[in-house]
Amino acid sequence: MSEDLLIQEEEDKRMIQLAYRELRRSIKASSMEQSDQDNIKAAYLLAVDAHSEQRRKSGEPYVLHPIEVARICAVEIGLGPTAIVSAILHDVVEDTPVTIEEIREQFGPRITLIVDGLTKLDGLYNVESPQAENFKKVIRSLLDDVRVVLIKMADRLHNMRTLGSMPRHKQLKIAAETDYIYAPLAHRLGLYQIKTEFQDLIMKVKEVETYDELTVKLKESEAQRSNYVKAFIKPLKKALEEINHPYRITGRPKSIYSIWNKIKTKKVPFEEIYDLFAIRIIIDAPLKKEKQLCWQVYSIVTDVHTPIPERLKDWVTTPKSNGYESLHTTVVGPKGRYVEVQIRSERMDDIAERGFAAHWKYKGVKEQHDVYDKWLDSVREILDSSGTDAVEFLNDFKTNLFNEEVYVYTPNGDMRILPKGATALDFAFDIHSDVGYHCTSIKVNNKLVPMGYKLNSGDQVTVVTNKSQRPSEGWLKMVVTGKARSKIRSAMKEERRKQGELGLESLQRKLKNLKVDFEESVEALVKFFKYPNRGELYYDIAHNNFQLSEIKENFNIEAGKLILKPVEEELIEEKTEELALKKRPRKNKRKTQLMIDGSTDEYEYQLATCCNPLQGDSVFAYLSATSGLKVHRTNCPNATNLMAKYGYRVMKAEWISNANDSFVADLLIAGVDSGPGVIEQLTSNITNLGLNIRSFYIDGDQGYFEGKISLLIANKDQLNIVIRALKNLEGISSVTRQEA
Ligand code: MN
Repeated sequence: MSEDLLIQEEEDKRMIQLAYRELRRSIKASSMEQSDQDNIKAAYLLAVDAHSEQRRKSGEPYVLHPIEVARICAVEIGLGPTAIVSAILHDVVEDTPVTIEEIREQFGPRITLIVDGLTKLDGLYNVESPQAENFKKVIRSLLDDVRVVLIKMADRLHNMRTLGSMPRHKQLKIAAETDYIYAPLAHRLGLYQIKTEFQDLIMKVKEVETYDELTVKLKESEAQRSNYVKAFIKPLKKALEEINHPYRITGRPKSIYSIWNKIKTKKVPFEEIYDLFAIRIIIDAPLKKEKQLCWQVYSIVTDVHTPIPERLKDWVTTPKSNGYESLHTTVVGPKGRYVEVQIRSERMDDIAERGFAAHWKYKGVKEQHDVYDKWLDSVREILDSSGTDAVEFLNDFKTNLFNEEVYVYTPNGDMRILPKGATALDFAFDIHSDVGYHCTSIKVNNKLVPMGYKLNSGDQVTVVTNKSQRPSEGWLKMVVTGKARSKIRSAMKEERRKQGELGLESLQRKLKNLKVDFEESVEALVKFFKYPNRGELYYDIAHNNFQLSEIKENFNIEAGKLILKPVEEELIEEKTEELALKKRPRKNKRKTQLMIDGSTDEYEYQLATCCNPLQGDSVFAYLSATSGLKVHRTNCPNATNLMAKYGYRVMKAEWISNANDSFVADLLIAGVDSGPGVIEQLTSNITNLGLNIRSFYIDGDQGYFEGKISLLIANKDQLNIVIRALKNLEGISSVTRQEA
């Protein structure tokens, strides 16, 4: 071995030991049973050995990753030894020759179950979306042991934190996936801190410039902010001390993502946002006095600073559906600025920050609202109902389990919680599947409503049923909950099965005539005509969508069997991968503007019309199922959804500088219509800049107007110049580029 390699090896060893020591320090090994300590050590040794040949993209030894994931589990999520061992081993079966059986032998069934849940499925080459399949697997294992999903979160968090060494298009793909599923899941599980960090890290990838700009601004204003917090807290201190319970006050800045969100929705610059932080008062209260003490603190705060009554939110009396408990109010602080104040107990704070993980700690301590049990029930329901289609599962999962809720009432006054967007018909199925099946009409607050009526919190819902009523296909469009959908789907399936019986009978007759074996022949037909199952074939026969004559057109009969006729060459060709990339040379002479996957002339592509990318925008190419390569902006909302599910179709795209082209950019403009001339000024300004307007739409109301201008633009720099110029015009209050 050369000297360089030896030095490298020593250095690796040192780094690994350092990381492990850090992990041991952080889990306070002393409070752990000796057997747990031994297990952690054994897992560590196994992982170091198994991963010894691998490196991360950054060049570091791979094993640093599982060690760090274990540390996140222990310190940031608060999990115990079983999870720590599983986290250390989480990539071993997937990436190294170690088998799940070896894990079972050494670490027993529980850890094996968790590690298995975290191991990606093998051989997913012929499925629509490997990402969806793997996600479904994680969710399924979550029902056996919740730690699977918590470790998965830690894994994703570490990967997001170390995204920097990945190529750009991979960064985008991973960020999109995190955006689509992991951040909302973290929210749903009440892992507030992790969710917030996810959002920031996603933004860091997708909105590089804005992220950097806000980071700098936040840092610059730090001193000023902390002085303000001091001034706000000072007059409260005496009264708080008189309560005679230990308390903490923090004035933490809000996340970059949430500040950016505010800038976008409120359309104000950074400098005009004053609630960049929230004051949090955490009181160490005994369980029985929590609520009372929170309100006492509220009263102290509002004695000093004037409250804005509409902003009071009481999540102490009625916790949020993800278990969050806290009292929120907004008050007018020094200099007349609005300040949000959050009041809660230590226990509430623990649950607020660590959600699901902390939930178990307090189980039994306080009568929990069974928030997670309920959630897990619905997860189970969706898993059971979505059949084998993983993409369908992913969609159901997203609509049902991430949304906020509405609270509605039965005629008896019982409260039912349904996801936001749920309809009257969803309510019927939520009461009981029989009520859903036989529902004929629905009244909300004593008025008849359509079955697809979207429920609002506080609605009182009455369902009228009739035994002869039955679900129809159209009902699927009137529900959003997994439960209702699955019940309707299975009712439809049952209906199809009944109708298919006729088809089955004619097929039996036909095959008997042909003197071939029934079982074998049906299998051959299903396979050849690509039916998902026999039932569908029977159904099509019953409805004349499948002609029995097709059997003899495609098959010969030999020795009581259906034998496929030899296929002509051309037919085979037609069947090759529809999705295959169009690698033919570009026919038209238009100069290419982009380099796709490192090549300038190999691929045909189109600029996506949803987000209209222009030269200089951060972009990527996406291979769509039907219309070839599309180039999207990295912050296009449509693209996030696509990348999250079909990340393998993402390709790198880079602008070629100086391509002489023009692009469409849509600007949203708002302002005060201070008499004639504003619009004239706008247009003349744009023309003076040498630009062409493609379309102009404007809508005014009581002196205020909003409009959209489509411009032909050369690149992003030019666009920024236009935006700045238009913003400076009198009467114009905001100019922003439309995102999609
Ligand atoms: Mn991993």
